Amino acid sequence: MLRYVRNNISEVEYHTWFAPVKPLGVQQGSLVLGVRNSFAQEWFRKHYLELLEDALRSLGAQSPQVSFQVLPAVQDAMMLPVNEPEVSPPPRTRALPGPAPLPVGSGENRKSLNPKYTFENFVVGPNNNLAHAAALAVAESPGRAYNPLFIYGDVGLGKTHLMHAVGHYIAERYPDKRIEYLSTESFTNELINAIRDDKMTQFRNKYRSVDLLLVDDIQFLAGKERTQEEFFHTFNALYENHKQIILSSDRPPKDIQTLEGRLRSRFEWGLITDIQSPEFETRVAILKMNAEHRHIDIPQDVLEQVARQVTSNIRELEGALMRVVAFSSLNNVPFSRAVAAKALSDVFASQEVNVEMKDVLRVVGERFGVSTDILKGAGRARDVVVPRQVAMYLIRELTSHSLPEIGQFFGRDHSTVLHSIQKVTEAVGKDADLTAHIDALRQILQGGDPLG
Ligand code: ADP
Ligand code: MG
Repeated sequence: MLRYVRNNISEVEYHTWFAPVKPLGVQQGSLVLGVRNSFAQEWFRKHYLELLEDALRSLGAQSPQVSFQVLPAVQDAMMLPVNEPEVSPPPRTRALPGPAPLPVGSGENRKSLNPKYTFENFVVGPNNNLAHAAALAVAESPGRAYNPLFIYGDVGLGKTHLMHAVGHYIAERYPDKRIEYLSTESFTNELINAIRDDKMTQFRNKYRSVDLLLVDDIQFLAGKERTQEEFFHTFNALYENHKQIILSSDRPPKDIQTLEGRLRSRFEWGLITDIQSPEFETRVAILKMNAEHRHIDIPQDVLEQVARQVTSNIRELEGALMRVVAFSSLNNVPFSRAVAAKALSDVFASQEVNVEMKDVLRVVGERFGVSTDILKGAGRARDVVVPRQVAMYLIRELTSHSLPEIGQFFGRDHSTVLHSIQKVTEAVGKDADLTAHIDALRQILQGGDPLG
């Protein structure tokens, strides 16, 4: 349950609020969580109730209930959130006047890093292995491997993920290093605010004193002269002090229009590396990892179906997988290639699933508990004849095979096939059981909407 929570909120939030929580047990069907004080109690009710209920649902609870109880004060003292300052040691010297030091420590460093974007969670393929290797090299020796590291590629291919991965890697090993991740837009906005509020000194100090600066989507510097000017000075200050800079962009520096020449050349000082669209195998591997992280068991052929249908970028690939999961659970149908194709059909170029005669035979056989050999055989018992007729009916409907071809497949002539299909056609709508079977089979084979 905590894993679920952790995956859905930031690291800092987690440590602040959830780390100190004590589960107290279940009372009248409600999970009782012990919290530090009434403020925390209120806060949980307001902000985390839904998340906790979702977490319980993810564990299979039907109608989850969560309540909170304030823990006795004795324990209170031991339950400070971990990133709150602990009892501070007596000052050795008189505190110097001046601005409060900037907060350091891994919690603070990682506040703007997505906890999921780590190297462990990054699938390496031929499309991104150079960028990955470069990022890892930079993470291992910041400021000394490649500076700056410039990663470019289309949207949704993993640039932000890789940048964050470097951030996590360094934050873990050097908790005191100052890491700043921000988008070019945030940099611009902060700069504008700093100018307006007369806080340029603070602004400069902030960005010129970091150990690792990660700036995302630097192509948005285009046309912003004042931001470029300020970024130029930030860049120089960091570079001269051997502080690592990583930049991402949707295109290489030479293609960023209206970028000052001196900035462009600086961006080219280090290493420029690109990420391409992932190939099929990499897409499947990413989907597989995603499903595992979410503890969802999805058959390989279904993952492959999704990977075949969604080729553009990884964000969409992940979205597509979630769509398939939602579709299958909302309609209460098991995962299958057909279900995947159907779930994705209105969003992604629909790829008709080619239904083959043997697929129909197999699925019908499974449903009625009759082997495919018997279905194709000569037996005339009713519990064989009906499934056989259903199979012929569905083959006719879902494939483009002619009656003689179907006959040949079953070792019968085409008039027998026609007769069988007529039988089923007459029964559909009248025989509720049979109709339900056929709907379900169609659904399994083709992903037709089970709700009508
Ligand atoms: P970009 O910044 O290039 O637009 P992101 O880094 O935001 O792309 O990646 C989009 C999504 O795809 C994120 O959820 C990210 O975790 C995921 N992703 C990208 N590349 C990979 C990869 N190689 N392995 C696993 N997940 C990836
Ligand atoms: Mg990005």
